Amino acid sequence: ATDLYKHTENEVYYSMNSAETFSITYPAIHPGAAHTDISVFSGDIDLHALFLESESVRRIFVTDSTIAALPSMAHFMQRWSTARTFSNGFTAVHGKDALIVLGAGESYKTIENVLLIVRLAIDENMTRSAVFTAIGGGVICDMTAFAASMFKRGARVEFVPTTLLAMVDAAVGGKSGCDFLNYKNMIGAFWPAQQLYYFPTFVQSLPNDQFRSGLAEALKTAYLYSNDLLTVFKTQKADILARTASVLQYIISTCAKAKARVVEEDFTEQNVRAYLNLGHTFAHALESASGLGIVSHGDAVAWGMGRAAVMSHNLGLCSAAYMQEMLELLRDYEWEIGAIHTAMAAYTPEEASQLLLEAMKKDKKNTDDSVRCILQTAVAQTAIYKVAPKDILLVLNPASASKGA
Ligand code: NAD
Repeated sequence: ATDLYKHTENEVYYSMNSAETFSITYPAIHPGAAHTDISVFSGDIDLHALFLESESVRRIFVTDSTIAALPSMAHFMQRWSTARTFSNGFTAVHGKDALIVLGAGESYKTIENVLLIVRLAIDENMTRSAVFTAIGGGVICDMTAFAASMFKRGARVEFVPTTLLAMVDAAVGGKSGCDFLNYKNMIGAFWPAQQLYYFPTFVQSLPNDQFRSGLAEALKTAYLYSNDLLTVFKTQKADILARTASVLQYIISTCAKAKARVVEEDFTEQNVRAYLNLGHTFAHALESASGLGIVSHGDAVAWGMGRAAVMSHNLGLCSAAYMQEMLELLRDYEWEIGAIHTAMAAYTPEEASQLLLEAMKKDKKNTDDSVRCILQTAVAQTAIYKVAPKDILLVLNPASASKGA
């Protein structure tokens, strides 16, 4: 036996040959992180009434500069006195509460900004019972929850998601984090919000590309879980694109409920939660091969869903009707359905498909040369398949079939 170290004066040694094992059972990490309540408010946004007239709870609000400047936020924002400014943001206080306004967009999703949130909580002498409250899109929600997960080993977090994408996707499911060393979401924790306050009215002020990003994820959710939602996409395009309140509310609550059920079943993504990545293997490859920021995430996901449908048909998994209907719907909403996305137009088809294939192989979940893809046999019938490189090339560059034969 190899002695590791001397433990007590009685010469008790730990030995590498020790056969003794034992385990420890823990309670849920934090009582505030054990479940999520969702409230959907139609009509006007009044965060002042929702939060600032409340009595006891101390809150640390986190938002970004674009959201802070929205007319719908004016009443809420009036109440604060600026305490500290720093490059790209400021903090402010109002009675027992504190606010931090960060820069807007993915480039601000940094560990430095997460730590600024934690620092404000410390500066304001918040205790572990403080509630970290994100008012924002996926970036602000992810960072606020990450900060809350670290502060004094875990404080409660609540979200007011303000983008369609955050409402249908990012706010639900407990994944928090930030980007690091040029890798997206490289660090983070599972730390769900205890309460989500949905105001679909926030969607009205979203720029079109942000709206379409959320819409692509909503369409993905329809294909995965809801024939009824898919019918709405097929039959109510004009209302959807006009952002009619009733149809928006239906889309948002259907998607949030569908994701909630999946997360309940598979919180840490051991199996069925991975289905939410439908279209994403192609999308991530396109986003990185074309240069980050060239194609929006939603546009990439929509294109990726089309490629996944073609692949599914090529492999004999789905009917031609499933594939055709999806491609037609995507085209109807003006998403790209060509094998070669126009963002790759600078390359020959051979180069473009090879670049995308290489990017797809980098996915950390792949175990060999094949690529793990989420594919459907029909609407709401989904599974994970390992696909050979030649079959990937076939959907990225159909001409490769004749050349390879
Ligand atoms: P975002 O938070 O950067 O918001 C997009 C832009 O819209 C920002 O500039 C923001 O200031 C602006 N904005 C927000 N609300 C607005 C409103 N109501 N009106 C006008 N402008 C508004 O990005 P996003 O698209 O919401 O989310 C993307 C992020 O979400 C990514 O970082 C991604 O990793 C993350 N995400 C997380 C999960 C998860 O499960 N945690 C899931 C999907 C995506």
